[in-house]
Amino acid sequence: MINFIYFSIFIFGTAIGSFLNVLIDRLPNNQSINGRSHCDYCGKKLNWYDMFPVFSYFILGGKTRCCKKKLSFQYPLIEFLTGVIFVLVFKDSPYVESLTRTVLIFGILSCLIVIFVSDLKYQLISDYVLLGLFIFSVLFHLFVGSENPTPTTIYNYLQPLTTYILSGLIVCLPIFLIYFISKERAMGLGDVYLSAIMGFLLGWQAGLLALYIAFVTGAIFGVIVIILKNKKLKSKIAFGPFLVIGTVIMLFWGEKLLEIVKKIYKL
Ligand SMILES: [Zn+2]
Repeated sequence: MINFIYFSIFIFGTAIGSFLNVLIDRLPNNQSINGRSHCDYCGKKLNWYDMFPVFSYFILGGKTRCCKKKLSFQYPLIEFLTGVIFVLVFKDSPYVESLTRTVLIFGILSCLIVIFVSDLKYQLISDYVLLGLFIFSVLFHLFVGSENPTPTTIYNYLQPLTTYILSGLIVCLPIFLIYFISKERAMGLGDVYLSAIMGFLLGWQAGLLALYIAFVTGAIFGVIVIILKNKKLKSKIAFGPFLVIGTVIMLFWGEKLLEIVKKIYKL
């Protein structure tokens, strides 16, 4: 029974992943997101059995059925990873005590996947995905501890809400300064918004630690690129993916990490 539930969640995740692929490639290019029902190359209508997440790619041998053009490996990879991530979160995370919060954390992770890949690929973070991430974050805080918010719980939420907004401002301040001083060369406005949402979602302590993790992983990656002397990569490193890494680490291991940091600095 448990295995059947996990399998269903995996299949659900791959279907969501298939939609995320559409968002990843179409939002930065301002294209319509009405599904991937036509071939990207020749425009022919796709068969329903050629649109199964993950499986269709391998059955088709990585090529389109209609015109035999190469399909990007990104499609099955994102579909598979989304499925795996959903199962892992469902299996073992502090957020699955309520169904609502599980759905919301799936939504948050979906937005983070889109931001990670589209920033890596196009150096662009879509405003729509940032808005989606913000809305999921508001709901995520609102649904804490209760399945159905009542007027009382919503009222009780308003006070921490201002704290979360302040946290967002605190966390995005360093990124804003880099954005402002470097005249958009080092960071984009998308990074500023993303870091603000990180602070809003995580609170200022975990948010700043997430920022720190982003800078450290970014620096490690930068050093590797310099050692490899890969000029193509060097000119195209976006910061968004590292912000996503920091956010995910703090979402799932934040409490433990904050405890360690507080112990080290005797806070
Ligand atoms: Zn085709």
